Amino acid sequence: MRRMEADLIVIGGGMSGLSAATAAAQKDASVIVFEKGGTVGGAANMGMGFFAVESKYQKAQLVNHTVDELFKEFMDYTHWRVNARLVKKLFEQSASTVEWIEDMGVEFLGAFKYFENSNQTWHIVKTPGSNKPAERCASIMVKAMKDTADELGVDFLFYTSVKEIITGDKGQVLGVRAVDQRGEEIEAECSAIIVATGGFGDNPEMIRDRIGLTWGQDLFSFRIPGLKGDGIRMVEAIGGAIDPSMIEVTYTTPGVTNLYKTISETMRQPNLMINLDGKRFMDESIMNNTTFTGNAISVQPKRKAFTIITDSILDEYRAQGHLDYITIHHNIQNVDHWEEQVKAYFSGDTSVADEGLSFLEEDTNKIPNQFFIADSLEELCAQTGINYKNARKTIDEYNSMAGRYDRQFNKHPKYMRELKEGGKWYAAAHYMCGYGTLAGIKTDDELRVLDEDWKPIPGLFGCGTDVCSIFGDSYNFTMPGSTMGFAINSGRLAGMNAIDYIDSDEFVE
Ligand SMILES: Cc1cc2nc3c(=O)[nH]c(=O)nc-3n(C[C@H](O)[C@H](O)[C@H](O)COP(=O)(O)OP(=O)(O)OC[C@H]3O[C@@H](n4cnc5c(N)ncnc54)[C@H](O)[C@@H]3O)c2cc1C
Repeated sequence: MRRMEADLIVIGGGMSGLSAATAAAQKDASVIVFEKGGTVGGAANMGMGFFAVESKYQKAQLVNHTVDELFKEFMDYTHWRVNARLVKKLFEQSASTVEWIEDMGVEFLGAFKYFENSNQTWHIVKTPGSNKPAERCASIMVKAMKDTADELGVDFLFYTSVKEIITGDKGQVLGVRAVDQRGEEIEAECSAIIVATGGFGDNPEMIRDRIGLTWGQDLFSFRIPGLKGDGIRMVEAIGGAIDPSMIEVTYTTPGVTNLYKTISETMRQPNLMINLDGKRFMDESIMNNTTFTGNAISVQPKRKAFTIITDSILDEYRAQGHLDYITIHHNIQNVDHWEEQVKAYFSGDTSVADEGLSFLEEDTNKIPNQFFIADSLEELCAQTGINYKNARKTIDEYNSMAGRYDRQFNKHPKYMRELKEGGKWYAAAHYMCGYGTLAGIKTDDELRVLDEDWKPIPGLFGCGTDVCSIFGDSYNFTMPGSTMGFAINSGRLAGMNAIDYIDSDEFVE
């Protein structure tokens, strides 16, 4: 058994744990980070940027969001069923966090929206030598923060999994037990611990038991290796209170999204969406709010829905020269690669597929076909299992409103594109997806972990996904960058608070 000691131990070196360790080390604390995998940054390595309000970038871009305004909007969105004090602190700290990270040598492209009606809060990291947003660019920030943490003397132990939190007779934390790559046990003593293990996005059993969804059947969320819910279970084991968790919901066409991006993005335009009963159920113009769309799909039969288009709609996109919705992260502008990708999809050729993140979502070999082509609506319904009679009625009604007022859900007339006979019919099946889980460990606004009596467990703090309950029942895509923003800001706060605790009269030896 190897023995170690430090002022602070951080469990998990993802975005939140790395931020916590860096902030604590800046307060002259000795810090050990135990990281199960071989690298820091976790999920953030796949992301692009984070939330901030009243930042210098927003000011320079004449984006006049204020903390007060967005705080109110956020609290209205969550119906005040979240920790308002914590939300306010995170919002107030967010602009200074942008500068904190700049001081580590990171540049930002500016503040971006995620979709037309979202707020402009997404601070996207600049890739050196480029002025374009790039997928995974947040990994540059992760590297810079790791370099800063190294300079400050933070001790990173990779491929080392924490198994247990050790507590004393007053309930205070005393240290952790961990196991390294070679199977050697480590017992590390400390005065405070921060739990930052990223939730349980890679644990289908916990997803089924705690959220009620079956992964691979009605959920195809990202499964980032190692996110098994260790932090939540370790805190539970020492009497920490556990809040309900949820999925950070989006939607996907398994085997297509993130891989055949032209097909995927074309089938995610605000055209007709129906369920297996052949019925329409939403204003499809909200499809760029992936949380709202995932939520709407989650209450349809078999938690499944289909967008349907015809060749005539593809022709309209060709004539227009661009799609209706173009996302920053996928940046598919038009249908130029449609035929090529459709051919490749049906022949199983992945060579023309875009470099994607699908490997984190699904094993494409096991997923049955989710994109369909037919010569008629009837044939399309036979392939997909959609109720033809109802679908025919829905489409006749929908076509009668083409280009005009949508009597059913008031979608903007410009998105009421007619589905015309005479060419091919296309359908894509959509299911709930998600970046992972959110929430679990209960904390107060100082990120102190609470027990069942709502009392802080002395010396125990949490940050990031494990404790992220500020969204209530639905992730807030109208304030883009919010989960990475939560990870960095909660980590930064937890790191500072943990060291303040060690130096305070409240410290329990
Ligand atoms: C594809 C993708 C794109 C995204 N893009 C964005 C974006 O642009 N903006 C945004 O706001 N959000 C984005 N997110 C979400 C955001 O990246 C995450 O919310 C955030 O990074 C979570 O940070 P975390 O520290 O809580 O968890 P993680 O980053 O998941 O880190 C947890 C770490 O803990 C380690 N660990 C687990 N158990 C143990 C253990 N027992 N012992 C030791 N270590 C352990 C894991 O190996 C992991 O490294 C994206 C997510 C994905 C998947």
